[in-house]
Amino acid sequence: MTKHIRNFCIIAHIDHGKSTLADRFLELTKTVDKRLMKEQFLDKMDLERERGITIKLAPVRMIYRPEVRNQKSEILNKSKIQNPNNQNDLGFRASDLEFVNSEYILNLIDTPGHVDFSYEVSRSLAAVEGAILLVDATQGVQAQTIANLTLAVAQGLTIIPAVNKIDLPHVAVEETVRAVAQLLGCAEKDVFRVSGKTGQGVEALLEEVVRQVPPPKGAAAQPLTALIFDSQYDTYRGVVAHVRLMDGEVRKGDAITLMGTGVETEVLETGVLSPEFTPSPMLAAGEIGYIVTGLKEVRQCRVGDTITSARKRASRPLPGYREVRPFVFAGLFSADGEAEDLREAIEKLQLNDASLTYVPQRSSALGFGFRCGFLGLLHLDIVVERLRREYDLEIIATVPNVEYRVLTVQAQTHADIYADTRGQGYVTAEQLNAHGVLEVKTPQEFPDPSRIEKVYEPWVWVTVITPSTYVGNIMPFVQGKRGIARHTEYLADGKAVLRYDLPLSSIIVNFYDNVKGVSQGYASMDYEFAGFREADIKRLDILIAGQVAPELSVLMEKSEIERRARAVVESLKELIPRQMFAVKIQAAIGAKIIASETLSAMRKDVTAKLSGGDVTRRRKLLEKQKKGKKRMALFGNVEIPPEVYRKLLQRST
Ligand code: GDP
Ligand code: MG
Repeated sequence: MTKHIRNFCIIAHIDHGKSTLADRFLELTKTVDKRLMKEQFLDKMDLERERGITIKLAPVRMIYRPEVRNQKSEILNKSKIQNPNNQNDLGFRASDLEFVNSEYILNLIDTPGHVDFSYEVSRSLAAVEGAILLVDATQGVQAQTIANLTLAVAQGLTIIPAVNKIDLPHVAVEETVRAVAQLLGCAEKDVFRVSGKTGQGVEALLEEVVRQVPPPKGAAAQPLTALIFDSQYDTYRGVVAHVRLMDGEVRKGDAITLMGTGVETEVLETGVLSPEFTPSPMLAAGEIGYIVTGLKEVRQCRVGDTITSARKRASRPLPGYREVRPFVFAGLFSADGEAEDLREAIEKLQLNDASLTYVPQRSSALGFGFRCGFLGLLHLDIVVERLRREYDLEIIATVPNVEYRVLTVQAQTHADIYADTRGQGYVTAEQLNAHGVLEVKTPQEFPDPSRIEKVYEPWVWVTVITPSTYVGNIMPFVQGKRGIARHTEYLADGKAVLRYDLPLSSIIVNFYDNVKGVSQGYASMDYEFAGFREADIKRLDILIAGQVAPELSVLMEKSEIERRARAVVESLKELIPRQMFAVKIQAAIGAKIIASETLSAMRKDVTAKLSGGDVTRRRKLLEKQKKGKKRMALFGNVEIPPEVYRKLLQRST
């Protein structure tokens, strides 16, 4: 019986108050004791609390009894006013009576709002029937408002719009309501006005969730199908899968099969998060909960896979999730060379962060590591930080880059590809692969210039939403980044929605900060992959004492390479500790040096110690010192501490 179950998410742009609204729901339903309540309760990771952002989706089960409030008459009155045409002689609907007399199981999933964690959002949406779309009244509709709404609509979810932070003085609540109504094509009166801070309007919103979000479909008598929407590794119990049961039932001791990997195992425990792990005798169709699988091999339990019963198998798996497309790539290495520890840590972290991809990589300077794919630089930053905190590993990350496709002269087909490009504007990865191009995800994979016929770089469709007053500032900035303006539209609250085409490489570093900067913090942005375009891409190598440091090479568009070369060379001059000898730091494209600095030698003034002394002795000493310098510069290897890589990376991101 799923009649009294409601599964829903809260979606919004970052900081619009999702986690705070969830706090009020947790209080209202007495899921968390008032004494234990803290702000953004569902942001459980230290990292989330410190940075004030949600990184992980967070499911929680709540029990809601409308009648407990003893405000039956109030609800009934309200519904009488709201539904004047839909009442019986007594003045209220039969459904109202049932509503106040029932106990509801509410499964809420709080989601992140930052674009780098959108995979968490899309996976959450596949586990629920409804979504509260929350919009901050002080910010209005922003980029992830639209992006996440689009995802929810594509899933066919019931959307309940709400404008938040109405407690703040001087906020344009009604203006935001109008923009939200315009966006959804609904009436302004259907947009809720709430404050997650004070709790104003929150209960009415929760009631609406119960009324509008349909109970899940699915039958307990059918074979088990459970969608794994998230998972984590527990040292004692192995892999714990967070699941949404579509059909069937599952209990402790059941033999289950993971349909994607074919692995069989026995259920050690089933339960729900309320908000802590709470064992329950079983999970049934329509419910959201967890299954302790006991699996120790993290690779055996993939997010998106379907769990079924080993005895009574489902005929086919659930659709699962689309593969994530990483936007940026960087090498991760252990600073203390703990290669095996790093491998284990990345595997386990990947279980909890399905958008992280990795393949092994070797580096002469940094040893064994992984080339990892990320959804953006915040994602990279969070992964490095989680490896440090949760797995006690110091990580060195190489300069992040996008992926390129390279057509070498051996391939004869660039005319065909060119035809494709002309036809569509963009070539897809599949089209390029069909023509046998090289996939280049690290600068080391970039072929020798003499072999290169054409290079293709990834482009994105960017949406910037800004108060119209800042359009004039944003335009020139975007164009300076090789952007092409496509389309502009205006929202009811005076905001402009600007659409641009931009090279992905232009937006991964500092772009968002700059867009915020030229709009006094008001603009927001979102992007999606468009395809590949031809570009003049070169590899910039960094030479230290005449030797290429492969980890510092970068791939760049020609027009931007000189500025970058100067910046890196200057940074390195500052960062590399002085040696006993002079060190040349150079940037080169192929054999051509385009920037150069010399880190002067640490001058150990030996002669200063000699009080007076005769001139010949003094000269001899100086000569000896000079020789020493020469020898070391010639034969010595400049040791670059891992710190330098780390600092250089921080500057370049
Ligand atoms: P999320 O990123 O959408 O989860 O947003 P959070 O719940 O973390 O809230 C972001 C910030 O907005 C926090 O500083 C909250 O205290 C604040 N906030 C959230 N809801 C309200 C509200 O209704 N009124 C006010 N004044 N501040 C709020
Ligand atoms: Mg949050």
